[in-house]
Amino acid sequence: MKEIILVKNGELALKGLNRSSFEDILIKNMKRRLNDLGKFEFTKSQSTIMVDPIDDDIDLDDAVDVVSRVFGIAALSRACVCEKDFEDIKTTALNYLSEELEDAKTFKVEAKRSDKKFPMKSPEICRELGGFLLSKFHNLSVDVHNPDIIVTVEVRDKYAFVRGNNIKGAGGMPTGTSGRAGILISGGIDSPVAAYMMAKRGIELCAIHFASPPYTSEFAEMKVMELLKKVARYSGVITTYVVPFTKIQEAIRDLCPEEYFTIIMRRIMMMISEKLAVHQNCYALITGESVGQVASQTMYALACTDCAVNMPVFRPCIGMDKEEIISISRKIDTFQTSIQPYEDCCTVFTPKHPKTKPHLDDVIKAEANIENLEELMNEAIQNVKKVIIK
Ligand code: ATP
Ligand code: MG
Repeated sequence: MKEIILVKNGELALKGLNRSSFEDILIKNMKRRLNDLGKFEFTKSQSTIMVDPIDDDIDLDDAVDVVSRVFGIAALSRACVCEKDFEDIKTTALNYLSEELEDAKTFKVEAKRSDKKFPMKSPEICRELGGFLLSKFHNLSVDVHNPDIIVTVEVRDKYAFVRGNNIKGAGGMPTGTSGRAGILISGGIDSPVAAYMMAKRGIELCAIHFASPPYTSEFAEMKVMELLKKVARYSGVITTYVVPFTKIQEAIRDLCPEEYFTIIMRRIMMMISEKLAVHQNCYALITGESVGQVASQTMYALACTDCAVNMPVFRPCIGMDKEEIISISRKIDTFQTSIQPYEDCCTVFTPKHPKTKPHLDDVIKAEANIENLEELMNEAIQNVKKVIIK
């Protein structure tokens, strides 16, 4: 019995003229992500992509698991390949779907016939196969509106396919179809969710993490890498920069008024990230900020942060409650890692009374106390550590 994966495109079916190149990117993404499992062949046909395992030892469960996290896919299913012969279609449905059919109470058959030369029309395939399955499984009855299982038969050019229920795909747009952006990643709950959300819109990620040893530990950094690995299961490869931030944080502590510590730190993070992001061909920055979540995330503070850079700053969590963010982090399996208690550089030297309504002029004046800021930023950039996360 030969099995393949059938992939139904998501939104990209709407993209008209660009559709073919979008599909090519989707195929390239699937190919890359499936690479570790073995060789696959990809065939485009209408709004379906057939993913055909070539090597014999490929575990299709693993392949389905990987493909279910690739953005740009609305639905996918495993399907069994059979001859374009109704007897073979019947036997295949009986054997291939026997477990699901035994467990179900209701079912219906759907048929699609892209090969119009096939002697039976779709309603006839449905009727005949439905009758046959009813005679074999006495637990089953037909429900055309809300069946437990839909048995689908597709008669195509060379072969017919028989499949059971679809699995929901990851949705969104294929990674790389919307350009690149730099995610400022901490070890918290929000920024991995922000990364996932923008990757889902087709953005390829590069990541920037600020570390302040010895105030932050190597475990904090390992935790960030672990989070990025989890995000990469959806986004694909993430080029990551770890920026040494200790000297800059100490300069802020020594030279700036305490109430501005956080906002100045945030602005400097943005400035450094922008420089690194430009170098990586990025056109925007992403953060996990959400209005009002903490004192440094008031609208006034965010406005001061934005003014530090020329790039647009995307904050996909901006209007979300913590509970909503947490539910996404559970879904993408970053939550348990995020809540491990390692200090982030943001919690080093936090002011007792941060300014929640800072004025940009005052912030810029306070920031100017660090006379050698440009030099310190360049030094940090020169000493970044680059890590490729897969
Ligand atoms: P998160 O859960 O993402 O850490 P948070 O609610 O804890 O967010 P902050 O710690 O104030 O909020 O950080 C706000 C945003 O600033 C983060 O979402 C992230 O984008 C960025 N950020 C914070 N710390 C770092 C860091 N060490 N390196 C890079 N970016 C950071
Ligand atoms: Mg944080």
